[in-house]
Amino acid sequence: MPAVRTRILAAVLDAYPDTFEGLTPSKQIGERVFASPTPHPNEVLNLFVQQKLTSALPMAYYMAARRGLESLMDARLPASARLSTEILRSVMKGLLALRETEFKEVHRLIFGPRGSKSCLRSDCPSRAATGPRVSEAHQRVVGRITDSAHSGTKILQVLLLKEVCGGDCFGFCENCVEGWEAGHADVRKNAWCMLPDVFGLKG
Ligand SMILES: [Zn+2]
Repeated sequence: MPAVRTRILAAVLDAYPDTFEGLTPSKQIGERVFASPTPHPNEVLNLFVQQKLTSALPMAYYMAARRGLESLMDARLPASARLSTEILRSVMKGLLALRETEFKEVHRLIFGPRGSKSCLRSDCPSRAATGPRVSEAHQRVVGRITDSAHSGTKILQVLLLKEVCGGDCFGFCENCVEGWEAGHADVRKNAWCMLPDVFGLKG
């Protein structure tokens, strides 16, 4: 049995990595590592707190927070997925901090100074002089990136603008799109580093 336990634990910890490098886009992250029916992220969080799986806690808190308030406080959840006042307070504080960072950083990314790459196409909205139409296109991109269902957050999700904005990305050229996707990788990394702090897991 100890060998089985070790293997299960290794699989679980792999799905709740404790390094940013462990968070590769292709890997299965979070509660889907458990067999069907997939547990609610609150349930996983409760289990990890009980079992003192310290290294997996930042990710478990994030997985519970990212679905937003309705998921966190869903009255239909079984007792095992209900969070104590103390844990709920930590998750909500973290969620608010991450959402604030997400809005601020995405805003800075899309509206901020351009990188060294110039636009590939003359009709790219970034190329035109600033005007109502231009800022509207940029605003749409910001809206799509930060539009998380149920007041959650997508800050750790790899940004694929074509998926987020639809095929033509509101007319922005490839250089703009690539620059934003690359910039968002830094946003993710910084957000990752914030997790222990915003969820009150430090010290
Ligand atoms: Zn462009």
